Amino acid sequence: MILIVDDTPENLISLKKVLEKHNFEVDTASSGEEALKKVLRNEYVLIILDVQMPGMDGFEVAEAISGYSKAKETAIIFLSAANTELKFITKGYSSGGLDYITKPVDMDILLLKVKTFYRIYEQNRKLIEIQKALLDEIAFRKRAERKKDEFISIASHELKTPLTSVKGYVQLLERSVDKGDIATVKKHLAKAQVQLEKLNELIADLLDISKLESGKLKFNKKNFSLGTLLEGVLEVIHQANPEFNITINGIPPKEIYADEMRIEQVIINFLTNAIKYSPGTKEIQVNIETGDNELYVGVRDFGIGIAPELQKSVFEKFYRVEETAIHFQGLGIGLYISAEIIERHGGEVGVKSKLGEGSEFYFTLPLNPVHEVE
Ligand code: ADP
Repeated sequence: MILIVDDTPENLISLKKVLEKHNFEVDTASSGEEALKKVLRNEYVLIILDVQMPGMDGFEVAEAISGYSKAKETAIIFLSAANTELKFITKGYSSGGLDYITKPVDMDILLLKVKTFYRIYEQNRKLIEIQKALLDEIAFRKRAERKKDEFISIASHELKTPLTSVKGYVQLLERSVDKGDIATVKKHLAKAQVQLEKLNELIADLLDISKLESGKLKFNKKNFSLGTLLEGVLEVIHQANPEFNITINGIPPKEIYADEMRIEQVIINFLTNAIKYSPGTKEIQVNIETGDNELYVGVRDFGIGIAPELQKSVFEKFYRVEETAIHFQGLGIGLYISAEIIERHGGEVGVKSKLGEGSEFYFTLPLNPVHEVE
C-alpha cells in the first residue's frame, strides 16, 4: 500500500486518483502527525511525502519514521517545491529507498518511480523469503545430522553390549569345556544364544531402516490366521518373560490378508515395549476388536505411560522419550518401523496413554483390502 502525505486536499485527491487508476492501493494523511500515526499502525511499501507542510514538515516525518521497525523496508518519494530543499533529503533517513520529485508533479515520472520502487520491494520480499527458506533448510539439516550422529552412537553402544556378553560367555564356555562340565556349558550356551538373538534383532531393525529409507522394504501378503500368530507370539514372549501375565480380550477374525511376518514384528514390538516400559507390573492385555471393515489390535500395559505432548513423537524415527531414555535401552526405531509397516498395509497406528498409568499402543488394518500386486 502507498501512503500519500500532503496538506493540500486537492493534491491528495488527484494523486490518489491517478495511482488507484493504475491499481495501486492508496491511503492518505493530511499532516505529518497523522502520517506517523498511520505508519505505526499499517505497513506501507512507499510513502509519497510533501516536504512543505505546516507543523511537522516532510523531512521531520522521514526522520521520525526511520526509527520505526515497521517502516524498515518502506521507500519515500519527497514532493518538493524547489531543488534547493533536496540537500536535506538524505538527512536522517537510511531505511528503504529514497527519491524526490519537484512540484508541479509530472504524473508520468511519478508513476515510473512508484513502479520501480514496487518492483524493488517485491524483489526484496522474495529475497527475504528465499533467505528464510534457506535458513530453515539449514537448521532442518543440522537437526537431522545431529539426530543421525546420536543414533550412530546409540546403535554402536547397543550392538556392543550383547557382543561383549557373547564374548564373555564364550570364554566361560572354553573353561567349562576344559573342565568337562557339560551342565555349565549348556547354561552358558543358552545365555550366549539369548544375547546373539538380541544382536540379531538389532541388526534386523537396522537393516529394515535402511530398506525403508531406500524404498526396498517389500511385503509378502497372503491370508493367514491372526489367532494362530498371536498364540505363537505369546508363547515366545511368555517364555522370555514368565513374570508377565498376558491376556487376550476379543476374538480375532478367522483370516486376515497381510504380510504375516511383518504383522508379527509389529505385535512383538508392541509387546516387548509394553514389558520394557512397565517395570514392576505383571499385567498386559491384548485387545482385539473386529469391525465390519476394520481390525483393531491394541497392546495395553500398566507401566510408565507417556506425557500427552510426546505421544505423537514416539512413532518418529530415532525418537526416544528423553526423561526415560537413560533408564531403558533402545534405538528409537521399533515404533517407526511398525508405523511404516502398518501404513503400508493401509492401516493406522496410535497410542492412548496416561503418564504413570500405562499405555495402549494399537494398530488398525482394513479387513477387506484391495489385493494389490506388491
Ligand atoms: P526404543 O524402545 O528402542 O527406544 P521404540 O521406537 O520402540 O524405540 O519406542 C520409541 C519410544 O517410545 C521409546 O524410547 C519410549 O520412550 C516410548 N515408548 C514406546 N513404548 C512405550 C510404552 N509401552 N510405554 C511407555 N513408553 C513407550
